[in-house]
Amino acid sequence: MVGKEVERLLLKVQKPGRYVGGELNSVIKDKRKVDLRFAFCFPDTYEVGMSHLGMKILYSLFNSVEYIWCERVFAPWVDMEEEMIKHGIPLYALESGDPISDFDFIGFTLQYELSYTNMLNMLKLGGVPVKSADRTELKNIVVAGGPCACNPEPVADFIDLFFIGEGEEVDLEVMELFRKCRAEGKSKAEFLRLSANIEGVYVPSLYDVEYNEDGTIKSFVPKDGAPAVIRKRLMKKMDESFYPDNFVVPLVEIVHDRAVQEIFRGCIRGCRFCQAGFIYRPVREKSPDTINSQCRALCQNTGYDEVSLSSLSSSDYSRIVPLLEKLTSWTGEEKVSISLPSLRVDGFTDEIMNKIKTVRKSGLTFAPEAGSQRMRDVINKNVRQDELMNTCATAFAGGWTTVKLYFMIGLPTETMDDVADIANLGQAVVDTYYRTPNRAKGKSVRVTVSASSFVPKPFTPFQWEPQDTIPVLHEKQQHIKDSITSKKIQFNYHDADTSYLEAVFARGDRRLCKAMELACERGFHFDGWNDCFSLEKWLEIFDECGIDPAFYANRRRSFDEILPWDHIDYGVTKSFLKKECERAYNSQTTPHCRLKCSGCGAAKYGEGVCFEKRENLV
Ligand code: SF4
Repeated sequence: MVGKEVERLLLKVQKPGRYVGGELNSVIKDKRKVDLRFAFCFPDTYEVGMSHLGMKILYSLFNSVEYIWCERVFAPWVDMEEEMIKHGIPLYALESGDPISDFDFIGFTLQYELSYTNMLNMLKLGGVPVKSADRTELKNIVVAGGPCACNPEPVADFIDLFFIGEGEEVDLEVMELFRKCRAEGKSKAEFLRLSANIEGVYVPSLYDVEYNEDGTIKSFVPKDGAPAVIRKRLMKKMDESFYPDNFVVPLVEIVHDRAVQEIFRGCIRGCRFCQAGFIYRPVREKSPDTINSQCRALCQNTGYDEVSLSSLSSSDYSRIVPLLEKLTSWTGEEKVSISLPSLRVDGFTDEIMNKIKTVRKSGLTFAPEAGSQRMRDVINKNVRQDELMNTCATAFAGGWTTVKLYFMIGLPTETMDDVADIANLGQAVVDTYYRTPNRAKGKSVRVTVSASSFVPKPFTPFQWEPQDTIPVLHEKQQHIKDSITSKKIQFNYHDADTSYLEAVFARGDRRLCKAMELACERGFHFDGWNDCFSLEKWLEIFDECGIDPAFYANRRRSFDEILPWDHIDYGVTKSFLKKECERAYNSQTTPHCRLKCSGCGAAKYGEGVCFEKRENLV
């Protein structure tokens, strides 16, 4: 629990509930009786971090081990940070109130490239040296995992070791090794060398990088016996994998304030811009019985009256109707509502609608991603306009009146006609509403069209593509605005400046670390938040460091270039990604895993959809 000094500061900041801990189901252990303390740091605010499923799973899992005490740490918002600095209070963990410098492990989950500065700022606020080389003892081991760890290079100088892939097993193996090393009096360097031999562990200091004159990578050489390729870890049997039976229940409202039930990992689809769709392959499902019993336990232990069935594409769960039948056998009576986020346009059937509409009617969200069919074929979003209109008509007849549509601009091969078709698709949804005879009486329709800017990501077929420059993205945003004529359509778009920085870091190499270090010295934080972000200041830093950000964001890579993440293996092969990129340029779609296996490489894990009998599943 926090001390008196912190309590005094709380009167001066917004939302003090973010900083006090003591929530229902938070875990308190006796620090004298545990062997290893882990500070689980989420590099964003309490509200964002507390909504994150991975953190909930690992927090419970680590604390289920008797000798580990895992605590939560979030980035203090600007007002609290100022007060903490003014009063000399180091960043602390919520459960014990102890500074993060007291912990054996300081772990970050990297969900978003623009949270990198928060990560460094949190170390700085905790009085922990930000560079790995400056932390020489066997304590304060800084580890990181999560999707951004798939290209660890832009933060390679700061992190002692990365967890590649799913963390449930590898994290515990590393902690066990740490315990052993400490008992045997080994040094940090020895511990890191031994860790590098655990599958799924990447220790960046054990690799030397050389560059060509044109700035591309010449070689990536492991040393001290580190593996040349780091293979991701993956949970094979989802029914047997750890899942918490309770969550910490927040004291202040968080972004997703509900029980969350993971129903499967991975995605069968292969949308060509989507990193998650490739790095979490292959799809592995939990059984309806497991999901049902885990949902019940969660609702009972947390008091939540809403449970969200989470995955990358919930309607692709192969037994969705039997699952909803099981769940609705008790949720109606207990006034628990079920939400199905990430529904695909073609997954919203009458049957599913009838099951979820029994309790709550929230707005519908679909992600066609592109306005024209040609563009949807390029990105392998196998959704047709008539499917979207049929789905919307089904929903409108069922009483829904609001639809949110998510799109992306700046996709490879995109023309201004494709961009205008985003507005046209929004209009077609409005027209469908007024053509639906049994729509809600006396209500009008509201369609929100949101456009984000495409950011090419590692381990996708578009990993070689340039990002559109900022002026081109602005032109495309304006073109959508000009093409919308109906007042029923609201248009939102994502700031192109932040997408640009995201593109720099997403495909950056370790030469970016010096820019990151300078940004940390200058107090950069919350880059993902408009109130704190300044591209101008970042450009000054790049300039001072002799870095050309366009080299990373706007340059087309050749297929034979060594990419900064080529030594990391997520199962999906580079040759498959290249083939998919070529198919994109020919507007050729690729069937999803349940229709036909396209041989992406992920079958080598020996589990999941790759081994299902296809005739029973489609
Ligand atoms: S190996 Fe085939 S079935 Fe398995 S994930 Fe890849 S494409 Fe899908």
